[in-house]
Amino acid sequence: GVKRLRLPPWLKTSFPTGENYSRIKSNLRKLNLNTVCEEARCPNIGECWGGGEHQTATATIMLLGDTCTRGCRFCSVKTARVPPPPDPKEPVNTAKAIAAWGLDYVVLTSVDRDDLPDGGAAHFSETVKHLKQDAPEVLVECLTPDFRGDLSAVELLANCGLDVYAHNIECVRDYTWLVRDPRATYDQSLEVLRHAKFVNPNIITKSSIMLGFGETDDEVMNTLKDLRKAEVDCVTLGQYMQPTKRHIKVAEYVTPSKFKHWEDVGKELGFMYTASGPLVRSSYKAGEYFIKNTLE
Ligand code: SF4
Ligand code: SF4
Repeated sequence: GVKRLRLPPWLKTSFPTGENYSRIKSNLRKLNLNTVCEEARCPNIGECWGGGEHQTATATIMLLGDTCTRGCRFCSVKTARVPPPPDPKEPVNTAKAIAAWGLDYVVLTSVDRDDLPDGGAAHFSETVKHLKQDAPEVLVECLTPDFRGDLSAVELLANCGLDVYAHNIECVRDYTWLVRDPRATYDQSLEVLRHAKFVNPNIITKSSIMLGFGETDDEVMNTLKDLRKAEVDCVTLGQYMQPTKRHIKVAEYVTPSKFKHWEDVGKELGFMYTASGPLVRSSYKAGEYFIKNTLE
């Protein structure tokens, strides 16, 4: 068999600290909210929750349950053909909890719900509407499924009052079949992003690429260009990490200097911002980047 690659030093992470982080964490207990940040034991939690230089705290909340109808080969979320039905009170309760939380920027994301007629788009949109009523100052990003390419679902969401519409392309074109669930395609993801911007040019669109599956530099370049052609505003690049032995193997640990290179390339291609680094995840310091690059 293929030997497992040794973890390079830049991926060894330290424990999160900071005043904001502790405050948010204790608030969270009272609010009964589950974050992706904690569940995925995200190494960036100190930086995201802690606020960084602009003191902008970001967290990611999962809507629509913890069970996905798809099975991407990089992802450790559990799957079922028909997950339990969504909690109809979730939009109201989530909005209330986030409003009470003191976050500056929230990422609402979900599993893929191919079992629901609208893929969960209305549920997302209701959550955003309630949140904007309860806490108009909180910036809202939705990191959404592809809705099987259902453009009316995309349109509903793009016009629900969110600030950032994110959908992840996940990897370069020629690794898509290997990495993502077969129902997800590269062109469908581009189309979702293009359509979101088309129906609401005022929103910021965003996508994310994982590196380390074995893709070449040319392939990464082409994906960045494809995203720009779809008028995507912001992009993040990070290292793929194998969650369990059953998941697709890491072919390469991309060096920090290569990630820096992609950041420069992103700038040249005209992205509003490019967050690129081994530990960068699609929501990495999203609030901080957003405020620094789109509002100031
Ligand atoms: Fe949470 Fe995303 Fe930041 Fe990780 S990168 S701590 S999941 S907001
Ligand atoms: Fe994981 Fe999303 Fe793929 Fe579902 S669609 S398996 S949550 S990456």
